[in-house]
Amino acid sequence: METRYIFVTGGVSSSLGKGIIAASLGKLLQSRGFRVTIQKLDPYINVDPGTLNPYEHGECYVTVDGHEADLDLGHYERFLDVETHKVNSITTGRIYQSVIEKERRGDYLGKTVQIIPHITDEIKHHILSLGQTGNFDFVIIEIGGTVGDMESLPFIESVRQLRWEMGRNCCCIHLTYVPYLAAAKELKTKPTQHSVKDLLQEGVQPDIIVLRTEREIPLEMRRKVALFCNVEEDAVIQSLDAPTIYRVPLNMLAEGLDAVVLRKTGYDPASVSKPDMDSWANFLNQLEGAEEYVKIALVGKYVQLQDAYKSIREALSHAAAYNNRKLQLVSILSDDIHEKNVDQLSAYQGIVIAPGFGSRGVEGKLLAIRFARENKIPCFGICMGMQCMAIEFARNVLGYSDANSTEFDEHTEHNIIDLMEDQKRTINKGGSMRLGAYPCRLLPNSRVQAIYRCDEIKERHRHRYELNHAYQTELERNGLHCSGVNPDSGLTEIIELEGHPWFIGTQFHPEYSSTVLHPHPLFLDFIRKAIER
Ligand code: GLN
Repeated sequence: METRYIFVTGGVSSSLGKGIIAASLGKLLQSRGFRVTIQKLDPYINVDPGTLNPYEHGECYVTVDGHEADLDLGHYERFLDVETHKVNSITTGRIYQSVIEKERRGDYLGKTVQIIPHITDEIKHHILSLGQTGNFDFVIIEIGGTVGDMESLPFIESVRQLRWEMGRNCCCIHLTYVPYLAAAKELKTKPTQHSVKDLLQEGVQPDIIVLRTEREIPLEMRRKVALFCNVEEDAVIQSLDAPTIYRVPLNMLAEGLDAVVLRKTGYDPASVSKPDMDSWANFLNQLEGAEEYVKIALVGKYVQLQDAYKSIREALSHAAAYNNRKLQLVSILSDDIHEKNVDQLSAYQGIVIAPGFGSRGVEGKLLAIRFARENKIPCFGICMGMQCMAIEFARNVLGYSDANSTEFDEHTEHNIIDLMEDQKRTINKGGSMRLGAYPCRLLPNSRVQAIYRCDEIKERHRHRYELNHAYQTELERNGLHCSGVNPDSGLTEIIELEGHPWFIGTQFHPEYSSTVLHPHPLFLDFIRKAIER
């Protein structure tokens, strides 16, 4: 069977959850036995989201092949349990960059290079490339932004052309919002009608309309939407606010979204296997059914925006659910932690020290780590969190009071964290990081080996600085062990403290690979230990 392409566009407002709808549909198709992937097209001009401020755009997600991507790719992986790659995340910037490179090379043979056909051809080429691998029955393409925006026009135009070229091999889902006007006590479909008109004006007739709503939408209102927007009645689907995003696939199943998609793309839903969502439902029951809480502090510098540490939050909530606990995650701004108030941390069962860049808030992280180390509170340091664990140990246990990372103090005498020689030569901020999955050998009889239950793992990185080898022997002699090592470069990837209930730091980001059906072993074990406290 040829690959089917499902486009997901959004109207009325941003933040309606297109990514969750795309991931939920993907999950349902996958649970019927199809091979599915999801691609995100972002209309902004950054070449990738790597240099975007987390306050503005939430976390930067990293794929195994080292691409810095939109956080929606994290949802796709957590829902589908399939790895995404660079090609799953496209931005306008990337499209223009490659068109301009082609133009410079002379590939266009002197022709005037234009949005149509050159930019749209490039977009279409990226969309089709996933299907052309032969690895997927369905490619779901989420188009960022809101229909009607100037930025997303070339993407919508590409969808228009592809629909024309592909016929039944594709379908288009449009997600809108149905507001409830409290004063009038009414749900309103007018914004939806206008948004569909915008889409039609750009040449695309949606096949399916998903209505995001806070209240149940009555049948006659769905009929009205169907009539005004030229879609079949059963193709008007409501997406009621859900207590957790992980309930959305089951809600979409109940609404029949997957069945309509199958029908629109030329399948007979009755002749393909029924969705098997049993293990998903089990997870959800544990997530929603847990009665007791596990209380965790997340110490970081971007805590004001929920999405800034999205994958860490999700990985912790997977781990809590599988430990039959509800996650109570309290974010603490590291800048606000001082000698006098650091004991507030004793109220928590576990402390996560967040990743980060730059020196702001580092001293607060160091105080939090010292408190966790001395008071034997389970403590999980991720990337910069691990680096801070090593700095704190060097200062307060080894006695090097000026120990630091050269990221925060270039002239420190005790550069416990530093750049590797080859990195010192690179200056391009967008391109000097260790990115993507690297192997890591786990030390025999280490804690992490027992947790992972294997000798070698692969985890994703996103950083420039490393633990300085010159200090390894001294750290280990004092109980801080380098228990995970890159077999090729010898770089330290994990540190763990002996004689502490749980004090582990990872140079990599384990949170990126925790999924609903495969929660991450380090997070599971961290929560397990936190519960014991
Ligand atoms: N700033 C640190 C580095 O570049 C840590 C990065 C991170 O936490 N992701 O090495």
